[in-house]
Amino acid sequence: MKFAIQSRNDEHSNELMARARTYLTDFGLVWDEESPDIVISIGGDGTLLHAFHRYREQLSTVAFVGIHTGHLGFYADWKPAEIEKLVISISKKDFEVIEYPLLEATINFKKNDEQNIYLALNESTIKSPDVTLVMDVELNNSHFERFRGDGLCMSTPSGSTAYNKALGGAVIHPSFEAIQLTEMASINNRVFRTVGASLVLPAHHKCVLKPVKAADFMVTIDHIQLSLKDVKSIQYRVANEKVRFARFRPFPFWKRVHDSFIDNDV
Ligand code: NAD
Repeated sequence: MKFAIQSRNDEHSNELMARARTYLTDFGLVWDEESPDIVISIGGDGTLLHAFHRYREQLSTVAFVGIHTGHLGFYADWKPAEIEKLVISISKKDFEVIEYPLLEATINFKKNDEQNIYLALNESTIKSPDVTLVMDVELNNSHFERFRGDGLCMSTPSGSTAYNKALGGAVIHPSFEAIQLTEMASINNRVFRTVGASLVLPAHHKCVLKPVKAADFMVTIDHIQLSLKDVKSIQYRVANEKVRFARFRPFPFWKRVHDSFIDNDV
């Protein structure tokens, strides 16, 4: 089995990376950054997001696992003290692979009908650089609403506990193949109307955002920030691709939500 390690690049994470690399090599695994079977992320959730985007072209063959060197993360749920246990399980291939849905974002530009397609593990957000964001929202080719406000966030189920949750969106179990559109401070009065609630879209539904006036936007894809000009539309849907996580022990999603947000002493 071939492995790679993505470190947050602080002293503690790098020291753990060196230990894990030595242990795994001693167990006969091969360090291969180009085409690993398993990618160990050491740091936080942000480190796993970086690892995901680094191996974005190899999602059907790579499985991810995260060790946290700060607080318990959503994706980074192994403690540094458990590293030996983890290494032994990896070398014995003593793990299952679980798959979570992803978000596909297709950005269409006015110029030459150019198109960029991105995959997000957590979410994509859209904001206007200096004015109120005004976007027509279409669901499955029908006009739904004209949104005015700070921005919009489209998240995956596993990303629903990240930015989406801070915006008051629902936490969605990753067994649902769905994406969730959440508002950021919409303007609602007698003149302007939005639905004022998060919308959960199933697989095969699509949401298209069309600029009304300004065509320059700040778009994020997880931690990646894009400053885009002359945007014609942005289409969101559940991606065909999935992300694969190596699961070594039961750690149910709701327990992770509890331990991350309520307390993890019990
Ligand atoms: P980061 O690594 O510092 O992440 C920010 C925080 O989000 C960390 O506490 C991390 O543990 C948490 N997080 C990330 N993914 C999560 C998930 N799926 N469930 C629960 N918590 C999660 O910063 P970064 O590297 O820039 O990460 C980008 C992410 O930060 C974005 O994908 C977005 O979800 C999140 N974010 C959150 C807010 C907010 O909550 N108001 C604002 C901006 C960005």
